[in-house]
Amino acid sequence: MAGGSKSGGGVAGPSPPPHASVPHRPFRPSRYVPVSAATAFLVGSTTLFFCFTCPWLTEQFSVAVPIYNGVIFLFVLANFCMATFMDPGIFPRADEDEDKEDDFRAPLYKTVEIRGIQVRMKWCSTCRFYRPPRCSHCSVCDNCVEDFDHHCPWVNNCIGRRNYRYFFLFLLSLTTHIMGVFGFGLLFILYHTQQLDHVHSAVTMAVMCVAGLFFIPVAGLTGFHIVLVARGRTTNEQVTGKFRGGVNPFTNGCSRNISHVLCSSQAPRYLGRKRKPTALAVQPPFLRPQLSESQLNAKVLDNGILGDMHRVRGLKPTVCSEI
Ligand SMILES: [Zn+2]
Ligand SMILES: [Zn+2]
Repeated sequence: MAGGSKSGGGVAGPSPPPHASVPHRPFRPSRYVPVSAATAFLVGSTTLFFCFTCPWLTEQFSVAVPIYNGVIFLFVLANFCMATFMDPGIFPRADEDEDKEDDFRAPLYKTVEIRGIQVRMKWCSTCRFYRPPRCSHCSVCDNCVEDFDHHCPWVNNCIGRRNYRYFFLFLLSLTTHIMGVFGFGLLFILYHTQQLDHVHSAVTMAVMCVAGLFFIPVAGLTGFHIVLVARGRTTNEQVTGKFRGGVNPFTNGCSRNISHVLCSSQAPRYLGRKRKPTALAVQPPFLRPQLSESQLNAKVLDNGILGDMHRVRGLKPTVCSEI
């Protein structure tokens, strides 16, 4: 989601019904392979860089070299974690029994007008509501996501309204980090051309190879998203050609689009946490006093019926028990 767009429109998403069900993500181990590989490459290569390349750079140039790379690396990790673990803006599904006939009688599309442009909202038969503009149903997560951009296997999450900012910052900082690691590695090698068979040089060259390998796709993706953000589009809209030959009603101009992605306040979360049922505390005036076993017997014996029984001669106890 190129975020700029998100402010446009003014059509609110479906408000969660009071008893909206919380969809759960099915557990599939294969989904964790790309994200695990990405984490291993990122953390592993950076650790090798800090252990084998940085000590000499610190000695030769400045302590600012590892500090700079450390700060960038932490920024990369923080944004990576946010993009991975954050709710991208999942809409809760309606319950099974809610508007049960809607699937049969509801039209497939409804149209809303946004800035004079007709935008279609499609009925989602899985979530049982009309998807708001820019919302799409992710086939991997099986959820409708607000301002859906794409499903990213490298962070194992949908990229939507709530986490697009962190995904975008992750790409920017990762490109910077890769360039830094490659550049400082090259500096190290240029000073050690006579000792390329040393372990420090070999490790540095291996890290440079990894950085070089990842630079082209990561930088390409970063450039693509910079263009999307500036134009106020999402990846989904771009690849499906939604505004081809038409006008994008969600763009607010280049600078506003960029500031919206980077500086707007965090969008609300639609999936509520399950509340624990709260116990109703009974206040003293309504509290029934706790009685002991003997007090309870006394009260039963003294309930008026047995007293009457004693006064009535010849009345058998069995009759009383039937009363
Ligand atoms: Zn859906
Ligand atoms: Zn997804």
